[in-house]
Amino acid sequence: MECPYCFNPASKVTNKRRSPEGIRRRRECLKCGKRFTTSERIVRDDLFIIKKDGRREKFERQKLENGINRAFEKRPISKEEITNMINEIEELLRKRGKKEITSSAVGEIVMKKIKKMDNVAYIRFASVYRDFQDASDFTKEVKELK
Ligand SMILES: [Zn+2]
Repeated sequence: MECPYCFNPASKVTNKRRSPEGIRRRRECLKCGKRFTTSERIVRDDLFIIKKDGRREKFERQKLENGINRAFEKRPISKEEITNMINEIEELLRKRGKKEITSSAVGEIVMKKIKKMDNVAYIRFASVYRDFQDASDFTKEVKELK
């Protein structure tokens, strides 16, 4: 498992925890000594996203990751923190036990998570997802953050 800090391929496992979504391992890089968490996910394909126009689409983690990574571009948040957040979001979506969720409900969950981490990323994500009606909506949202 490659270290997210120095990209050294060797690490040792310091802790292992089983969760309903898979196995989480706490690792320590053998080169730089930094710690990070990895998780093995159980891949399931039983979740569908209902788009605004009514189309039904299989949930793809990659799409969620792309949107979130774009929002965090050049922000001082580590790759590990972002990955952990995406894992939490995916767990939340799957834990609902329902096979379908609307894309706007997913957007709300993601925005709540991002808001806790970084205001700039939040505004970027929200401006794409909520397609603000006009500039005053956007200004209001920014003011609420202060
Ligand atoms: Zn390292």
